[in-house]
Amino acid sequence: MHLYLHIPFCKQACHYCDFHFSTNLNQKSTLVDALCREIELQKEYLPTPHLETIYLGGGTPSLLTETELASIFATIDRQYTVSPQAEITLEANPDDLTAERLQWLRKYVNRLSIGIQSFHEPHLRLMNRAHSATEAEACVRLAQDAGFNNLTIDLIYGVPAPDHAIWQSDLEKAIALGVPHISSYCLTIEPGTAFGNWQKKGRLVPVDDAFAADEFTMLVQTLGASGYEQYEISNFAKPGWEARHNSSYWKRRPYLGIGPSAHSFNGHSRQYNIANNTRYVQAIQQGKLPFTLEELTSADQVNDYLLTSLRTKWGCSLMELDALAGWDFALLRRKELRQLQNQNWLRSDEGVLRLTEAGKLFADRVAADLFVDDEELSTNDRAAGAVDQKTTLTA
Ligand code: SF4
Repeated sequence: MHLYLHIPFCKQACHYCDFHFSTNLNQKSTLVDALCREIELQKEYLPTPHLETIYLGGGTPSLLTETELASIFATIDRQYTVSPQAEITLEANPDDLTAERLQWLRKYVNRLSIGIQSFHEPHLRLMNRAHSATEAEACVRLAQDAGFNNLTIDLIYGVPAPDHAIWQSDLEKAIALGVPHISSYCLTIEPGTAFGNWQKKGRLVPVDDAFAADEFTMLVQTLGASGYEQYEISNFAKPGWEARHNSSYWKRRPYLGIGPSAHSFNGHSRQYNIANNTRYVQAIQQGKLPFTLEELTSADQVNDYLLTSLRTKWGCSLMELDALAGWDFALLRRKELRQLQNQNWLRSDEGVLRLTEAGKLFADRVAADLFVDDEELSTNDRAAGAVDQKTTLTA
């Protein structure tokens, strides 16, 4: 079982970010109390009380004090058994990682996910990151000196001050630091962010698709040549260092999300907590869980599975698709599958669909081409492809 906690506070707003967070830190300790209360209120959500991974994300969990973190883990320990081998990750920003903080963090977490984003000072200033380029490099060494071997760093490409040489230099600096895991996402310009507003006013021009695709190719080739395996489109690991928590999302394992805006999944429905700190705290203080529930139809489950699994090295199992859809999926989507294979975007090996190198540039489009809807799954004329679901599941 897997537990996520959302810490919805940041020192300042990065210009590209549309996650849920507040820069008003006054409510932090009240909100931590509410998180602990929600852990208690949600104790029945997961089918078993045994945790294999815990992930503190945000926002900026490295803003928590030791007292706040200790109180969260004491609550978790009262409600769950945490496996001795559990992966316990905390997202951190470089400017928070002092030697002193790293020492006490080691008592609670065994993996840090550091939001570096770039080692290039003008890019950091453009994105309004709170740290400097010097801090970006120094914090990784400090974390390693403090005994954190299990480190991942985030890097952003497609920054709207385009220069491939800067991206290449960022990649080489990351490799030189010797971290075993790197996550890298293309910067997208979202409405409501500073970048979104600048774009609307014509003050900022996003990079074009070809530029972003070139930087993605640089990412894959440079990290691949240095021994990192691309086990998910945006995630690269040295052998044995894949993120267990994030992999659980891609493998459809149940997880519980605690905190404002956090999501949970139990195999047949999703829950979305309210993305508002004040209303979240008020509800929890009254003993209520402020979430919206979405029951997943067969089509939702098939489409979610396509969207996430195709991005991974493990691929998308046709047997699992058959079970979720109640149809022989390969028969149902034979035309689209043939077309995607002819385009060299998709291949099928022993009942598993995987993207080709070329297909990785179009992952969402490939998945969307295979999406199903509930109407076609529930049609009465199932002779063309319906399968005996019980048989498929047993198989
Ligand atoms: S620190 Fe992270 S969560 Fe906070 S604004 Fe920046 S990118 Fe968003």
